Amino acid sequence: MNQQITEIDTLVVGAGQAGVAMSEHLSRLGIPHLVLERHRIAEAWRSGRWDSLVANGPAWHDRFPGLEFDMDPDGFAGKEQVADYFEAYARKFDAPIKTGVEVKRVTRNVGRAGFTVETSDGIYCVNHLVSATGPFQKPVIPAIAPTDSTLHQIHSAHYFNPEQLPEGAVLVVGAGSSGVQIAEELLRAGRKVYLSVGPHDRPPRAYRGRDFCWWLGVLGLWDSETVQAGREHVTIAVSGARGGHTVDFRRLAQAGMVLVGLTERFADGKVSFAQDLNENLDRGDENYLALLDAADAYAERNGLDLPLEPTARERVANAACIAQPLQTLDLTEAGVSTIIWATGYSQDYSWLQVDAFHANGKPRHQRGVSSEQGVYFVGLPWLSRRGSAFIWGVWHDAKHVADQIATQRKYRAYDESRSAAQTPAPLRANA
Ligand SMILES: Cc1cc2nc3c(=O)[nH]c(=O)nc-3n(C[C@H](O)[C@H](O)[C@H](O)COP(=O)(O)OP(=O)(O)OC[C@H]3O[C@@H](n4cnc5c(N)ncnc54)[C@H](O)[C@@H]3O)c2cc1C
Repeated sequence: MNQQITEIDTLVVGAGQAGVAMSEHLSRLGIPHLVLERHRIAEAWRSGRWDSLVANGPAWHDRFPGLEFDMDPDGFAGKEQVADYFEAYARKFDAPIKTGVEVKRVTRNVGRAGFTVETSDGIYCVNHLVSATGPFQKPVIPAIAPTDSTLHQIHSAHYFNPEQLPEGAVLVVGAGSSGVQIAEELLRAGRKVYLSVGPHDRPPRAYRGRDFCWWLGVLGLWDSETVQAGREHVTIAVSGARGGHTVDFRRLAQAGMVLVGLTERFADGKVSFAQDLNENLDRGDENYLALLDAADAYAERNGLDLPLEPTARERVANAACIAQPLQTLDLTEAGVSTIIWATGYSQDYSWLQVDAFHANGKPRHQRGVSSEQGVYFVGLPWLSRRGSAFIWGVWHDAKHVADQIATQRKYRAYDESRSAAQTPAPLRANA
């Protein structure tokens, strides 16, 4: 069967925020391109997030430079508003996005430049390929998950609201932004909740009248280029829910949530927890207080007239679950019917069959420029800095990647013009 073959200079795979940002920068530079998206624009925000999720950062911050949210800038956009925002953004510059097209396989051409891209909509021949397929693609549930079929187990990616869960108590494993927000929603819905808390950072939602996104910005922390050694698996616990509030595990425990340490193993209907709860909470507090200290120092150094907030340093008394952490929990006795694994995601590049990956499957790149010439990545955590996987951060990374593609196109254009000049004119008969 003859397949349709389309030639295009640059193909972007995925039309989440990273793909939209990429398309904007490529358009600005006049680079012919197409974005292919297997579902809809910003699909992850529509169907891959729970119903009540709002952005972690305020609307003035969690956006692209070229468009504001149509809402209170200090408010937190709901997940559908975020998806609508990216659709509107793409319309704004008439982004060449084709939805409902899955990229199935990319291979490097042999003996000539570029790549052959097999899709559900025919074949594309491209010079440059940008993977914008997301930092959080495949939900990861650790191997320790019990096989007991009476337990309802889901990943946080498949949690939408408390009503979808069977009656009974819930164990939420993982206390990053997803885990802690889901646990809090369940507690407020009247569920008994156990929350397994690992190492985490927990910035104050706001301090001295400024959101933490602002503090991280002025302190240069969004622009940190490398993860601090040993902090690679430290998650960040923040929440924009109900107008935004600081995640304070000790207060959640006071409100009735049972905090436990890292979940270690399941056996004979029981789950055991590491005895690291207090250490994890203490280190989270240290991280919180360090940001307050840095903010105070910044305010003083720059003569900022911001209201003092001594109550931010108050600590509530420890609830019983912190004073004497559980070592094991009998799931049946505790009435636990559901486990929610808020344990993160991995990436799937099985479709990208090029030499661009480390042995552990992670993309090999420098600021998004892959070791396989012509392949680029955007939207990955720490692609260039701490903000890289977040809304506003990906826009800046996409700009750099588009510039790199433009540079390569210039070299190519030079080569083509020189080659044409050097080609001897064909001999004419009777010359
Ligand atoms: C629960 C949660 C809350 C978050 N909240 C915030 C927040 O408040 N603020 C913030 O800045 N960041 C937040 N993030 C982080 C980040 O902004 C989001 O993960 C965002 O969706 C990443 O955008 P992206 O475009 O890089 O990837 P995605 O949104 O995942 O988009 C990738 C797209 O690629 C498509 N795709 C994948 N493979 C193929 C293929 N082979 N062919 C065609 N299409 C393909 C997918 O369908 C998808 O639409 C959050 C993340 C999570 C998980």
